[in-house]
Amino acid sequence: MRRPVIAGNWKMHKTVFEAVDFIRQLKPLVADVRDTDIIVAPTFTALQAVSREIDSSNIQVAAQDVFWESSGAYTGEVSPSMLKDVGCRYVIIGHSERRQYFGETNESVQRKIKASLAMGLCPIICLGEALEERKAGKTFDVVKTQVIECLEGVSPQEMEKIIIAYEPIWAIGTGKTATPQQAEEVHAFIREQMGHITPRPVSEGMRIQYGGSVNPDNISDLMLQPNIDGALVGGASLKADSFSSIVKFKGM
Ligand code: PEP
Repeated sequence: MRRPVIAGNWKMHKTVFEAVDFIRQLKPLVADVRDTDIIVAPTFTALQAVSREIDSSNIQVAAQDVFWESSGAYTGEVSPSMLKDVGCRYVIIGHSERRQYFGETNESVQRKIKASLAMGLCPIICLGEALEERKAGKTFDVVKTQVIECLEGVSPQEMEKIIIAYEPIWAIGTGKTATPQQAEEVHAFIREQMGHITPRPVSEGMRIQYGGSVNPDNISDLMLQPNIDGALVGGASLKADSFSSIVKFKGM
């Protein structure tokens, strides 16, 4: 009932030429995929070229970040309307790398979410615990706080547009994937928490992706879990063959 969604986060990789070349390779590999949403998130500089190249295919484009103001003296920032202007439908917000290196907080994530929704963009909101937090038994507390502080005040209609990406920080780029059971446990918890801040039919319909060293070999087991609705993929999204294998996790 929840449509699977696989997104590739390219981080700070690929020139415009490389990004367009990737899409040219990916398009035929996933042309027969009908039942899964496919998203790629290039750098800002490649967004427009990638949007043109995907054309009317089944691939959609996300940005990796956004600022909450619509215009003004904010050197280096990009607004939601500017992302729409270059063909974005989605935007990743609150990735742990932005929280870790660029001072992103739950408060700034919330502002970005609201500004993006107001412009009709669908936010992909990243949350997850650090290794020390997991070891200290704080995973659920951390995730609960993130859910509440990031999503406070978002209406049910807006909530329907949101995708949550649960990304345990210790699993990102480390090759250490959470087991399907570990991931499912947190996904189910996130859905339960969502049920406290938005009506149940909305929380039941929301898609929750898992992210953290997803690859063609582990995607199927993750996707078998009832509350895992997709994946946010970093490293394995950079090559068209591995990304397309992940997109086709059911062996279509
Ligand atoms: C990510 O960047 O969101 C991510 C999960 O990276 P990786 O798949 O490389 O762990």
